[in-house]
Amino acid sequence: MFNDLNKKVAVITGGSKGIGNAIALRFAQEKMNVVINYHSDEAGAQAAVDEIRENGGDAVAVKADVSTETGVKALLQAAIDNFGGLDVWVNNAGMEIQTPTHKITLEEWNKVIGINMTGVFLGAKEALNYWLENDRTGNIINMSSVHQQIPWPTFASYATAKGGVKLFTETIAMEYAPKGIRVNNIAPGAINTPINAEKFADKAQYEETQSMIPMQKIGDPEDVADAAVWLASDQAKYVTGTTLFVDGGMTLYAAFQDGKG
Ligand code: NAD
Repeated sequence: MFNDLNKKVAVITGGSKGIGNAIALRFAQEKMNVVINYHSDEAGAQAAVDEIRENGGDAVAVKADVSTETGVKALLQAAIDNFGGLDVWVNNAGMEIQTPTHKITLEEWNKVIGINMTGVFLGAKEALNYWLENDRTGNIINMSSVHQQIPWPTFASYATAKGGVKLFTETIAMEYAPKGIRVNNIAPGAINTPINAEKFADKAQYEETQSMIPMQKIGDPEDVADAAVWLASDQAKYVTGTTLFVDGGMTLYAAFQDGKG
């Protein structure tokens, strides 16, 4: 338990399923009040709200596109209207498009960058302005990926966006540290969520991914949520500008296992 989180208010983008959903449920276990953003899956977001309320917490589901200013403004407003303020903003929403780089259209490129990178900027800007204008502190958690570090052919737009999120996190962590605002990044490895559903439904692809992980296990969304709740809490009060890898060791170069190479 992280007692300091009790009654704190969090916005979680892309919270209707996958990692964002697990973070919403984990935050609610700490009795936080949660704004669960969804883009299209209203039923998923509402199911999370219901589950949180049944367990004595409070949450609201809010439809918004994080790649727009109106979208992120609606999320902040929902936090203020429903719960009186904002303490933690989690930029989790993301998506990927696989296409060889010489074939990706500008529209596809802009969509991936818009949601995964510009969406992080817009969400962070909204939270920062709220804290600065109200002389408050808070913290931001961004969701990047091991692909902020590992190149990923045919996913150049995604890897570019996640690399951008890493340096954005580090830059604004430094910029706002004197104001008592912390900004951190989580880099998940291969996690069992809808984004990977098609790939992991194929046994061969599942096993191939598993073989790239020293712990030989695909991660669960809850593994990422456990990292997020710690970063949100005062137990991480001296932690800013860092990337916490939650990847079973994927970034350790598994191909070199047993002295190979
Ligand atoms: P997911 O597909 O289950 O969830 C992504 C969420 O983002 C969905 O709820 C979706 O509706 C939302 N979203 C997409 N576009 C949006 C928009 N314009 N506005 C608002 N919400 C939008 O995927 P996930 O695995 O839970 O991914 C969560 C985050 O973790 C993403 O940023 C992803 O890149 C990152 N990540 C995931 C993995 C993994 O293996 N699952 C690995 C590394 C990083």
